[in-house]
Amino acid sequence: MSGWKILLQKGKPRVTLLVRQEDSIITKEHGLSKVSDMIVDFHTHIFPPEVISDRAEFANRDPAFEHIYGSPSARMVDAEGLVEAMDEEGVDKAVVFGFPWADAGVCKMANAYLLEAKARYPERIVPFYTPSLAGGKQTVRRAARSLDEGMQGIGEVAFYTSGMGRRQWSKLLDLAEVAIEAGVPLLLHANESVGHNYPGKTDMRLRDLWRFIEQTEGLTLVLAHWGGGLFFYELMKSVAKRVTSLYYDTAASPFLYSSKVYRIAADILGPERILFGSDFPLIRPSRYRREMEEGGLSEELQRRIMGENACKLLQL
Ligand SMILES: [Zn+2]
Repeated sequence: MSGWKILLQKGKPRVTLLVRQEDSIITKEHGLSKVSDMIVDFHTHIFPPEVISDRAEFANRDPAFEHIYGSPSARMVDAEGLVEAMDEEGVDKAVVFGFPWADAGVCKMANAYLLEAKARYPERIVPFYTPSLAGGKQTVRRAARSLDEGMQGIGEVAFYTSGMGRRQWSKLLDLAEVAIEAGVPLLLHANESVGHNYPGKTDMRLRDLWRFIEQTEGLTLVLAHWGGGLFFYELMKSVAKRVTSLYYDTAASPFLYSSKVYRIAADILGPERILFGSDFPLIRPSRYRREMEEGGLSEELQRRIMGENACKLLQL
């Protein structure tokens, strides 16, 4: 069963979208006039069709890409694939990243594709400039220019194969400055310092992340993947005092954490600084919805995490 059903509730029109998803039917209500009901996926990746069709060739040229997307079973989608899935899952808008390509030409092409996608789906796609940390100073100049061209943030900033070395560090600080000046968020890949290994997990220490936060006052920072667990330390008074505009996204949570994490994180952080991000096409949004329900999150908290916090942050 799938389709639209218009309901009249206290005189206010509502639309219920019924979507068949795997073995269950997801019901999503859109309040027609309420922005706060918007579902925003803060963490998705798309690739130009030529990268998808020629994956092996691109993997040969880029060790980090090979590491994460080298296997044909690692899913990739183009803009159409993303928007189709958003329709199926009832997602209104998605923050979209590319990949931190080492090759400057490929990086430029992939970022241009994000802007093209925005031009085709202006109401659905919120593109972030995805920089390469491998290049020289031009990376930082390009990031600044891209924000004038329509990019709405910088991210996912990641160094999948190199770790946080001195070169990456100075580039990261320069990018943060660009984001601060433009008043846009920067989303940084983060991962746990403990636990199992998986493609994309780098040697990242929480104290480095913390140093970055301390050195970038004024930056609106989103740490991906629950900040590699950094949120726990917001229980420390000295940490909580320093954190002003730090957000955490939920990307890849079902692969990493038990569904208790949503409620525990919300207890520590409060309702406003958690952003739903799926890491689609890695995981579909409905899986997160199920986990939030299993984890006992109130409807109010789910509403905030699934969209309201993102709308405020991005002024959507
Ligand atoms: Zn990531």
